[in-house]
Amino acid sequence: MKDENFLKANNARSLWHPMTAPSDSLKNPPAIITGASGVKIRDIDGHEVVDAVGGLWNVNLGYSCQPVKDAIAAQLDALPYYSIFRGTSNDKVIELAEELRDFFAPDGLTRAFYTSGGSDSVETALRLSRQYHKIKGEPGRIKYLSLKRGYHGTHFGGASVNGNANFRTAYEPLLPGCHHIPAPFPYRNPFNEADPAKLAQLCLQALEDEIAFQGAGTIAAFIMEPILGAGGVIPPHESFMPGVEKICRKNGILLIADEVITAFGRTGAWTGSRLWGVKPDFTCTAKAITNAYFPFGAVMISEAVAEVFEKDETGKAAIGHGYTYSGHPVGAAAALATLAETKRLKVNENAAARGAQLFDGLKALKDKYSVIGDVRGGHGLMLAIEMVGDRATKSAPDKAVPGKVQKVAYEAGAMVRVSGPNIILSPPLVITDADAAVILAALDKGFAAV
Ligand code: PMP
Repeated sequence: MKDENFLKANNARSLWHPMTAPSDSLKNPPAIITGASGVKIRDIDGHEVVDAVGGLWNVNLGYSCQPVKDAIAAQLDALPYYSIFRGTSNDKVIELAEELRDFFAPDGLTRAFYTSGGSDSVETALRLSRQYHKIKGEPGRIKYLSLKRGYHGTHFGGASVNGNANFRTAYEPLLPGCHHIPAPFPYRNPFNEADPAKLAQLCLQALEDEIAFQGAGTIAAFIMEPILGAGGVIPPHESFMPGVEKICRKNGILLIADEVITAFGRTGAWTGSRLWGVKPDFTCTAKAITNAYFPFGAVMISEAVAEVFEKDETGKAAIGHGYTYSGHPVGAAAALATLAETKRLKVNENAAARGAQLFDGLKALKDKYSVIGDVRGGHGLMLAIEMVGDRATKSAPDKAVPGKVQKVAYEAGAMVRVSGPNIILSPPLVITDADAAVILAALDKGFAAV
C-alpha cells in the first residue's frame, strides 16, 4: 500500500466518488478503508468499527467468508474468463443456474440471465419484458409503472422508473412512458393516511386508476422492490404486493420484483417476494449473490415467461441483449460458494432475530430523542431512522444533523449510512447480538451529540 500521507493528500484529487458532489469529497475527505474482517471494517488510522452498512447492503456473510475467497482463487486458476455469448458456456454458469433454479423455485422462477450488477439486472428485466409482449403479438405494450420513492439503479431505464428526483433530474430527459404511483409509506403520503392497510388499498386504487388512464394495453411491466430500500427502508403493508400482483395479472402486465437488496435472506425470508407470497415474472438480483466479493447479478425468469421465449421460432425471441461479463466464470464461482454458505448458515433466521433486536433498540431511541421522527424495520436487517426538525410538522432536520450523528456513531464503533434525512442500517446477516448492541450504543451516542 502507498504511504498514508500520499493516500490522504490525494484522497479525492484524481477520482470522483459515486453519489457524492465532487466539491464535497474535496472538502470532507472520505474515510479510507484499508481492511476488514468478520463484520468489522478498519480505516487508515487503525480505527475499527462494526459495519452496520454491510458494504452497501451486500456483504451478507461478512468480510471473512473463506469459502467464497477460495472459490474465486480456484476459478482464477481454472478459467479466469470466457464469454457465454452464442456458442460458448462454462461449467460454473451451468451449475449456478441449477442452484438458482432450486433456490427461486418457490417464487416460480426457473431460468437465469446473468448480469454484472443490480442496474444491469433491472435493465435486463425492463428490456426482456418489452420483448415478451412483442413475441406475444402485443407490441404496443411499451410503458412501465413503478413506485415513487423506489430505487432501481442508475442506467437510463432504471433511472426512468426510479421514484426519487435526486437520481433523475440532472439526467433528464429520461425514457418516455414511465409513470409512478404513490408508495405505500404510512409516515409520508399524499393521502395523509397513517393506517398501513388502508393506505395499501389507496395506493392499489391509484395503480388501477393509472392503468385505466394509460390503457392497460400500453403497459409492459410494473417494477417494485418488495421492501423499498434506498428510498428510506419502506416495508409496504402485507396486502400491497399481493394486490399489485393481482392487478398486474388482470391487466396482462408483467411484474418485476427488484430484489437487488432483498434476495438471499436480508428480510428474514429467503426472498422479498416470498415474504409477501408473490410470484413475479422477473426477479432482479445482484449484490449479496456473491457476498459482494465479485460484481455479478442474475435476473430470474418465471416458467410462463420462459416458455414464451423458448417456444418462439420466428426470430422474435432472439435475445439481443447481454453484457461482456454476463456469466463471468469467477462471478459464477463466487455465487455458487456464497449460495452454499448462505443456505448452510441459514442467515435469514439470524437476520430476522437480529433485525428484531435492532428494531426494538431503534424504537427505544425514538422515545429518547425528539430529532427522530420515524423508525422503520420489522423485516430482517434493513432498518431506517428518519430525522426531523419538528415531529408535529415532520419538517426536515437541520442539514448538519445526520452527518453529525454518523460521525459520532463512527467514533463510537459503528459505520452507519446517511441518505437524506435517514440513517440506514443494513449490516451483514451474520452479526451477533453483541454486534447489534454495539450499533445501538453507537447510535445512542450519535443522537446524544445532536
Ligand atoms: N435496485 C435496487 C433495489 C438497488 O438497491 C440497487 C443498488 N442499491 C440497484 C438496483 C442497482 O444496483 P447496482 O448499484 O449494483 O447497479
